[in-house]
Amino acid sequence: MCGRTTPRQAVATAGRCPTLWLVRTHELVLARIERDLSAGRLTVGGRLPAERTLAAELGVSRASVREAIRVLEAMGIIRTNVGSGPDAGAVVIDNPAAGMTSGIRLHVASHHVPVGDVVQLRVLLETWSVARVADLVRTAGTDGVTPPDLVGASEVLGLMDESSVTIQEFHRLDAAFHGSLVALSGNVLVAAVMAGLRGAIHDYVLTGSLRLPDWPATAARLRAEHRGILAAVEGGAPGEAAERVRAHIEGFYREAELDGATSATANDGNRPAG
Ligand SMILES: [Zn+2]
Repeated sequence: MCGRTTPRQAVATAGRCPTLWLVRTHELVLARIERDLSAGRLTVGGRLPAERTLAAELGVSRASVREAIRVLEAMGIIRTNVGSGPDAGAVVIDNPAAGMTSGIRLHVASHHVPVGDVVQLRVLLETWSVARVADLVRTAGTDGVTPPDLVGASEVLGLMDESSVTIQEFHRLDAAFHGSLVALSGNVLVAAVMAGLRGAIHDYVLTGSLRLPDWPATAARLRAEHRGILAAVEGGAPGEAAERVRAHIEGFYREAELDGATSATANDGNRPAG
């Protein structure tokens, strides 16, 4: 095995090969934790071994262990608690959207990813999702297909109808409505990517909304469009559901002038505090 330099191989041969310096040492820690997750030795809610233990076992510095833990936290794999009590340390969590949100947000901020590209990806994923959920409604009862539970999505729309809802709350509920439909598609990765996309451009959406000349009129239209999307899903009409969600998303971003936007658009002095 000596001479091989992938982290996984390096962990297997740690301490025996002179080529190990080619691998950044925190990657040894990442590889070890990945291996433990894959093998089921570490599961959601489980605790990572102590920093001192990992460092000693892998023959790396505690600084390298801390670096690996920071990477895992940014990816949404673990959550760290400060202090020295029983709750201290790094706990495995299940939040794939966290890493995607921060990753996409930074690439949008660096102007590498235009907001418009994020919107296009959102349209791709959401049209597929609502069509899939509508199809589950249509085929429920055949081949063991259980009907999706649309009560939660319907309840969110009820909350959005309340007149006291602020723009910020409206967008939070909007995200919950779309998120619930995407989650019902059953694809956890699509749901995580969607949550990441929405989180990454949340500020741009708010900024665009605050610029709209007549928010109450826009909100009324968005509410009606949500009802239409839900009705198409409940009616088991995949094509109609997909087309409605596409028109809804593209229409809003076009009206808010975000469809072809880059990150510079949000930095025009009208950025909301929240
Ligand atoms: Zn919406």
